[in-house]
Amino acid sequence: MRNETEIIDLVTKRLGGQRGGLPEGVRLDWLRLGLGDDAAVINTGGRRRSTGSPTDDLVLSCDQFLEGVHFLPSLHQPDAIGYKALARATSDLAAMGARPRFFLVTLALQPSRTGEWLEQFAGGIRRAAREFGMTLIGGDTSASPKIAISITVGGVTRLDHALTRSGARAGDSVFVSGTLGGAQLGLACLTARPKLTRNQIPKESLERHLRPRIRLALGQWLAGSGEVRTKIASAAIDISDGLSTDLHHICHSSRVDARIFAPQIPTVNIPPAIRRLPRMRRINPFELALHGGEDYELLFTVPRRLAARIPSHYKGVKLSRIGEIVARPRQKKSARVELVDSAGRAIPLKPQGWDSFRRDR
Ligand SMILES: [Mg+2]
Repeated sequence: MRNETEIIDLVTKRLGGQRGGLPEGVRLDWLRLGLGDDAAVINTGGRRRSTGSPTDDLVLSCDQFLEGVHFLPSLHQPDAIGYKALARATSDLAAMGARPRFFLVTLALQPSRTGEWLEQFAGGIRRAAREFGMTLIGGDTSASPKIAISITVGGVTRLDHALTRSGARAGDSVFVSGTLGGAQLGLACLTARPKLTRNQIPKESLERHLRPRIRLALGQWLAGSGEVRTKIASAAIDISDGLSTDLHHICHSSRVDARIFAPQIPTVNIPPAIRRLPRMRRINPFELALHGGEDYELLFTVPRRLAARIPSHYKGVKLSRIGEIVARPRQKKSARVELVDSAGRAIPLKPQGWDSFRRDR
């Protein structure tokens, strides 16, 4: 059985996908960035009527959200499903530093859910759309034995200001926004058996799981695509699959290695009342931070000369320097990420975040 990366590689090859730039023999000068990043970047060739200068680039991504894989209708309220469906998709625009503009939705669902369930689901999407400044511009619906949601999102970015996964260089600092592991903690509490009462579940973690805060303003600031025009980050990704996996994505795309420092990783605070519960004892905040997915924080790298520009907080969101990018020995093909503990011991950190095709899940 293939893993997710192998499946993506195979489909890409069979479909003749493009990574961007000008591939041999094919002239795609409209494509700035194709496969292999959080979103594709397209130069529409437009010109501003007033000044004649080129218009912003278009940034496109899609995401699916499936019953039984990503959510359970018995556990998740329809408005939270709606909100999260759009937030997950739009987080990829945040990772590119783009300003969100529009979305398209395809929705398959059981005929029994076309009443109250659908009303609430639509309300959740509408709330997210208002928050992110997005407009629905198309979609499709179908009856289906299970709920399947697919959302395509579009945004814009200043020319050449897109944040990619491939720009990290040796010597860059590695930063992360917010705290990590909260969404997984929320999910663990929600699915604990015997059940926890609503009062026992830490509210903040439950919110992070149900309604993730995506980092649009931070992404735009790092990209220099908003008011401030300096591009600060050299690479970025949103942490959807977990820090260990998403840092490997950056290292893979940038052909570098990385070293992160355990004491500097911002872990989530697990309330003592939860930690004491026998069924929650196995939960380790550090493991949650390394491998838990769905936090939708930004993981980004900053060149040494710009690192001093990173404040301790940006618009109330904590920013932590967790490590550094190191050069990869020329003969090594795959990325190596090291985790350094407080005593200075380094161990290899394998990508152990979310992979929906992995057997051990
Ligand atoms: Mg992403």
